[in-house]
Amino acid sequence: MNIGYKRTKMNSLVLVILLFSLVPIVWCYPARCEEEDALLGRCNVPVAVKPICTDIVLGYCDDMPYTKTMYPNLLDNKNREAVETGPEYVLLSVLHTLLKGECTPDLRMLGCSIIAPRCEMNKILKPCRSSCEMLKKNCMHAFENIEMAWPYFLDCDRFFVGEEEGCYDPLESLRGRHEFMVDNSAPELSTIIQFTYHSHSQMTNILKKTAEKCSDISRTYSIGRSFEGKDLIVIEFSNNPGQHELLEPEVKYVGNMHGNEVLGRELLIYLAQYLCSEYLLGNQRIQTLINTTRIHLLASMNPDGYDLAASEIGASDEQEDAEAARYNERTSGRANGQNIDLNRNFPDLTSIVYQRRRNKGFRTDHIPIPDSYWFGKVAPETYAVMKWIRSIPFVLSASLHGGDLVVSYPYDFSRHPEKEKMFSPTPDEQVFKLLAKSYADQHPVMPDQSHDRCGGEFANTNGIVNGALWYSFAGGMSDFNYLHTNCFEITVELGCDKFPGESELYTGWQENKEALLTYMEMVHRGIKGIVRDESGKAIKGARISVRGIRHDVTTAEGGDYWRILPSGLHIITASAEGYSKVMKKINLPSRLMKAGSVDFVLSSVVEEPDLFVSIPQDTYDRFDPYNKFDEYGRSGNREPEEETQEKPWWWSYFAFLGNNQPTWLLRRY
Ligand SMILES: [Zn+2]
Repeated sequence: MNIGYKRTKMNSLVLVILLFSLVPIVWCYPARCEEEDALLGRCNVPVAVKPICTDIVLGYCDDMPYTKTMYPNLLDNKNREAVETGPEYVLLSVLHTLLKGECTPDLRMLGCSIIAPRCEMNKILKPCRSSCEMLKKNCMHAFENIEMAWPYFLDCDRFFVGEEEGCYDPLESLRGRHEFMVDNSAPELSTIIQFTYHSHSQMTNILKKTAEKCSDISRTYSIGRSFEGKDLIVIEFSNNPGQHELLEPEVKYVGNMHGNEVLGRELLIYLAQYLCSEYLLGNQRIQTLINTTRIHLLASMNPDGYDLAASEIGASDEQEDAEAARYNERTSGRANGQNIDLNRNFPDLTSIVYQRRRNKGFRTDHIPIPDSYWFGKVAPETYAVMKWIRSIPFVLSASLHGGDLVVSYPYDFSRHPEKEKMFSPTPDEQVFKLLAKSYADQHPVMPDQSHDRCGGEFANTNGIVNGALWYSFAGGMSDFNYLHTNCFEITVELGCDKFPGESELYTGWQENKEALLTYMEMVHRGIKGIVRDESGKAIKGARISVRGIRHDVTTAEGGDYWRILPSGLHIITASAEGYSKVMKKINLPSRLMKAGSVDFVLSSVVEEPDLFVSIPQDTYDRFDPYNKFDEYGRSGNREPEEETQEKPWWWSYFAFLGNNQPTWLLRRY
C-alpha cells in the first residue's frame, strides 16, 4: 500500500516537472511576436496549426476501411506516440487473446474507429452508433465471461453518432466480398471466414477443409445425392466424430431446404468454420458444446434448387432486376430438380394423428410411415433425409428458411382440414414454445415488436408462431420429425429477403450467431438417462412417458434417452415390453442448464422369485435431482470478498502501464 502511494506521488512529480518544462515552449513562443511586430515584418505570427488528415501508422488498425486519420483523435490523444502508449490501444492489441478470439477483429476495428478515427477533407468522421450497438449486443457476453467491463471508449452514446449525422460503418470491410484474418498472431488456428455466397463445389471444399483442419473433432459425410447427383454433404462436430456416444445428445441444423432461401445455407457454412476455429483457439463455451454434444450441419438440403436460384440472381445484370428477382416470391429454385417442394414431400403423419386422436390410448409418437406414401413421388433429397433422421438418435433440430422473420413450431398442419390458419398445438406445446423462444430471444430483431416485419405479421407474438396458425400445410419435415422420431424440430425464418445481397451476409451472421449457439445448447435441457434391466443390460426401444404429455420418446441402442422438458414437477415412467413399468417423480429447477440424470432399472415381468430378491429396493425410489443441482448451482457462487480484493487474471496484461492502468475495465472499482 505504502509503496503504491509513494510511486503515485513520484509519478505525479515527474508529470509536474514535465509540464513546467513544456510551458516555455508552448506559451512563450507566440508572446514574442505581437501583431504589430508581424506587420512590420519583424517576425511571423505562428499560424495556429490546423489539424490535417494523416496516414494511419498503427499496426493494430491497419485493416480499417480507410487509410487516413487525424490527431488529436476522439480521445484527445495528441499524436501517434500518445495513442501507442495509452491503455486503450494496449487493450485492442491483447483483445483477441483475452476474449479467446471472440468478436475480433470486429471489436478491434470498432476501437480503432475511435482512436484512429476516419479523416476526410481534414475532418474527422464519426462511426455509426448502430454498428456499436449491434456489436455490443453480440459481444457483451464475451466481456462478462472474463469479468471485464465494457470499455468506456466503446460507449455507443458517447463516441458514436446516428446516420443523420453522416456516420460511416467502421466494420465495412468485414462485410461483403472481403477477406480478413481473424487473428494475425496465430495464423495456423485462425480462419478466413469469407462472408460471400458459395457454389456447391466451394461449399463442399470449405466443409472438407474445415473438417481436415479440425480432424480431431470433425468429419464430413454424405447422406445421399440430390436429383441431379450432388452430394448432400453433412459436417459433424463431436469429441468423437463418427460415433454416437452414450448419453451424448445429437443435434442437427438443416439449411436451404427451399433452394431459393439461401441465408441458412451460408450461416451453416460460417458456423462450421466458426466452431472449428473457436475450438482450436480455446473458446471454452465452444469446447464444452462440442465435447458434450454431437452436432450435424446439413448446409444445403436442396443444392439443385440453389443452383437454379443463384443462376437467376447472377443473370440479372441490372441491379434492379436482381433486386426484383430477390424479392419475387416466384424466384425459381424453391423446389428440387424434379419440381418437388421438399417441405411438402414428407409422409403426412399429422393427418393420421388427427384421425385417431379420439381412440383410447392413442399416442402421438413413432407413427409408422403408411405404405401409401411410397406410391407417391418421393424426392431423393426427402428420402436421404428420412433415412438420416431414422439412423441417428437426434434430439433437437432446426430447419433454416427465409421469406419472413419468425420462428415457427409444429404442428404445421391444421387440426381442421378446411381451416388454413388454426392454432394446432402438439402435446409438447410448452416445450416447443421454450425452444422457439430460445432462438428468437437471442436474435436482435426477431422479438422486437416495433420492427417492420415483412408485411406486419407476428407483431405481437415475440417472434414465434405455431406453424398451422401461420399457414397450414401437410407433408412438412418438422411434423415428421416429431411424429416419427424422438427429434424436436423448429423452423427458423431468417428474414424477409429470401436471397439477400452479398453485403448483408455478415450482418446475417452477426444477428444469428448467438441464437444458433444458444439453440444447440437447449439440447441439454430436461432429463436424460439410461434404461437397463436388472442385469445391467441396456434396453433399446424402451418408452419414456411424461404424465400429461401424450408423446413418448424411446431409448437408443445403448438404452440412453433424452427428454427436453420445461421446468417444474414431472412424473416420468419408463416401460418396455416384457418388463414392469417404473415411475419416478422429478423436479426440474428453472435455472437448470444441464440435463438432469434419471436412470431406470426395469425388472422382467416373468416372475422368478430369486430375481425379485436381488432387485435393489431403490428402483422405485423417487428420484429428485433438485438437491444435486442445487449443489451444482451453489458451487458457481464464489466468495464475494475474494473478488473485490483480487485483480482479475487479465490485469497482468496492463501491469506495465503503471499509473495509466485501465481501471475502467474493472467491474467493481
Ligand atoms: Zn422455406
